[in-house]
Amino acid sequence: NVNQPVTLIGLGPMGQAMVRVLLDAGHPVTVWNRTASRADEVVARGAVRAATPAEAVAASELVLLSLTDYAAMYEILGPVPDLTGKVVVNLSSDTPDASREAAAWIDQRGGKFLTGGVLASAELVGAEPAKVFYSGPAELLGAHEQTLRLIGEPHHVGADHGLAQLYYLAHIDLFLVGLAAYLHATALVGSAGVSAQEFLPWAVDNLTTNPQVLPAAAAQIDSGEHPGDLGTTRMMAASAEHLLQASRAVGIDTELPKAIKAHYDRAIAAGRGGDSWTGLIDVIRDPR
Ligand code: NDP
Repeated sequence: NVNQPVTLIGLGPMGQAMVRVLLDAGHPVTVWNRTASRADEVVARGAVRAATPAEAVAASELVLLSLTDYAAMYEILGPVPDLTGKVVVNLSSDTPDASREAAAWIDQRGGKFLTGGVLASAELVGAEPAKVFYSGPAELLGAHEQTLRLIGEPHHVGADHGLAQLYYLAHIDLFLVGLAAYLHATALVGSAGVSAQEFLPWAVDNLTTNPQVLPAAAAQIDSGEHPGDLGTTRMMAASAEHLLQASRAVGIDTELPKAIKAHYDRAIAAGRGGDSWTGLIDVIRDPR
């Protein structure tokens, strides 16, 4: 199986890291990149430089794409109309719909398509914490799992080609909003002269113990019943209001607490003040 040839198109930091782990495992790797010089380093390590995308695609059944977005895939593979027998795995980030449309487009050209959403920085590609969400036909991942595992631990999340992008974006959501909350909280205590270092252990404690409430929250969200036993919306709204007032008083940004408080206000306006805070899922699902 390490003899299986792999083609990789797109040699940004991610694509280059993927080529390195594939070469290190012994796979013959053919590469193509729009800016040809970006292939120099991996070619020096043993990758074969294809002169055109068509030549790159012809070299392997398994064709991996690591591009800025899906538009780049159409530019590159547009002039390669016959993808019969090819398994195209697009590891680029884009919207769920972009992945669904791409699957249909590849299918029309005779190929098979898998969406990949990579949860790792370029430095972590091939290392233990790297994970990749895949969506599309499970048997396609099954057939190439051993090779794809080299990039990161593969997780098949469903047949709908958009799902891997949704899982990826859900992680970005948790990550970016969590980091924004960390910065805001640090600015809030910092307004009284507390350094980030002093606040750090409390931030870590909060971010590691808070997830303990999630199993009970998930159960209420899935049941659609929010009986008020997890902390009521009204009680949490009072905290959100104090956070907003305190942020305003010290002159730091108030957009984040305002957005949070708006969720609670809308739930209360809908008569849901006595529900568990998990009932906010309904105002988030339907913001009208
Ligand atoms: P880059 O944007 O740095 O590079 C991607 C590649 O896309 C380059 O080789 C570039 O070619 C090529 N490309 C872009 N547009 C076109 C086009 N129109 N025609 C031909 N080639 C094109 O991306 P990264 O390597 O950083 O990331 C790749 C994907 O992985 C992205 O979707 C990113 O969101 C995702 N990702 C990145 C992570 C990271 O830490 N970097 C982490 C997780 C996911 P050229 O060299 O000629 O410009």
